[in-house]
Amino acid sequence: MKKGIGASQGYGIGQVVVIKEANLDFKTVTVSDVEAEKKRFQDALDVFMEKTQAMADDIKARIGEKEAEILEGHILMMQDPEMTGQIEGSIESECINAEAALSNVCDMFAQMFASIPDEMFQQRATDVNDIKTRMLMILLGEEETDISAVPAGTVLVATDLTPSMTAGINPANVVGILTEVGGKTSHSAILARALEIPAVLSIDNIVSTVTDGQRVIVDGTDGVVYLNPSNDTVETYIKKRVAYLNDKKLLEKFRGLPSQMASGEVVELVGNIGTPQEAVKVLECDGEGVGLFRTEFLFMDAISIPTEEEQFQAYKMAAETLADKPVIIRTLDIGGDKAIPYLGLETEENPFLGYRAVRFCLDRKEDIYKPQLRALLRASAFGKIRIMVPLVTCVEEIREVKAMVAEIKADLDAQGIAYDKDIKVGIMTETAASAVLADVLAKEADFFSIGTNDLTGYTMAVDRGNAKVAYLYSAYQPAVLRSIHRIIECGKKEGIMVGMCGEAAADPMLVPVLLAWGLDEFSVSPTSILATRKVMSQWTMEEAKEVADKVLTFATEAEVVEYLKSVAK
Ligand code: PEP
Ligand code: MG
Repeated sequence: MKKGIGASQGYGIGQVVVIKEANLDFKTVTVSDVEAEKKRFQDALDVFMEKTQAMADDIKARIGEKEAEILEGHILMMQDPEMTGQIEGSIESECINAEAALSNVCDMFAQMFASIPDEMFQQRATDVNDIKTRMLMILLGEEETDISAVPAGTVLVATDLTPSMTAGINPANVVGILTEVGGKTSHSAILARALEIPAVLSIDNIVSTVTDGQRVIVDGTDGVVYLNPSNDTVETYIKKRVAYLNDKKLLEKFRGLPSQMASGEVVELVGNIGTPQEAVKVLECDGEGVGLFRTEFLFMDAISIPTEEEQFQAYKMAAETLADKPVIIRTLDIGGDKAIPYLGLETEENPFLGYRAVRFCLDRKEDIYKPQLRALLRASAFGKIRIMVPLVTCVEEIREVKAMVAEIKADLDAQGIAYDKDIKVGIMTETAASAVLADVLAKEADFFSIGTNDLTGYTMAVDRGNAKVAYLYSAYQPAVLRSIHRIIECGKKEGIMVGMCGEAAADPMLVPVLLAWGLDEFSVSPTSILATRKVMSQWTMEEAKEVADKVLTFATEAEVVEYLKSVAK
């Protein structure tokens, strides 16, 4: 058995097909005719664009718009004069062949992205490497791997499954994916989930460990893989697979139903998204709106600050997709560990306690915050947009944001530009301070949304990335539960909506507790919407209240977990 990261749920039993790497060796040579070499690069680029567009169109037709975006991103990168200009410049100034120039420039960009400790940027490094590989293949006349031709029952094994490789996957033939690199949010994971193929990523040396035709079991739910499994293990997994597929089918009966408890209480069940295109996924998964649009992805995916107009188009697209359903858009939550090269942020000793989110935005009003707030207000004319402010720790911050919103509204009025005059401005309650101060903040905010991912870290004073203290990072910790309880209570007292957009909102053990405490809105990843609706339907308010009252009486996390497990349905 080998362990990795379970990036796409489900169980697959099949035979290995190792995706071989093409031979991309080349020598750096001096060229005498620089113009001819630049033309050779341009011709290869034309082929690359054409092939990539064809693959993107194919993915769009077979899988979905969002998935095609990854390849469209490759086209955008290669349309960017920043990148191609440097390659041509290098051919010209160094008089070297196109392969060498391309390779040097791509390596430089990949290294730059890879040096940023954020999964999003690591992914961009993977994208650049994918582009480099495919451009080199074209320049060197190498054939691309044809994944569409693998036989039924195939488990694909590769160092990294690049988006361009994934384009050819036929889900009828591929029952599992194993790679050596990638995480839950890598593009291969996104595609695997969209295709509903179980995938385990980041398995050490898997490519050299397996051989073609070898039997393996892929457990994408627990992130493990069994090589040459015994017949007993295969039997167990066949049963697990059948049960998993049945459960999934059963969830379908919750499609189109209200998000309702067994005793009739209705709440809002909405989705978390990172791009405007994902709004479509929320609708596909039967979400009732968007409870968190993480706008930092718009900034991370660009090479300079997205303009007000670009942001306006993105927010408008999300609002229009959701039509009359609410879309909560969080203003830029960047800084600290989530650095963006063009923002020029300095490395900090304690990034999670530093210059990030609303603190950063209020310090960069002119070039960052005003354009974003203006774009949000303009887009509010096209749907039901709500503005959410991350990492609030004191009243001054929310007051300052509201003052800015009022000022921008006045400007828009003066210019005759439409916007939602009653747009709501809420607080993401995700710091220890915001929990303690929830009674005061509730008087200033139009709504709360509890960000349990950060609230857990800040309440427990624990860095998620530090394995030595990871045992403290739990939303079941009595201190975290009390904070959540207090935030909901304070919000309700002031009559504002209280939602939750952290991972805890989709936790089946916590859902009844949150319902009983009066949480109004649950924002979860789109694929968890139906499962969460099912959990809600299994509880009456009376039963949930009993659990919720009891949960606050425990002194330790272990007792909380043991109790919630014992009453889980
Ligand atoms: C949170 O902190 O709970 C949250 C939803 O935001 P993020 O995970 O983007 O920090
Ligand atoms: Mg957060």
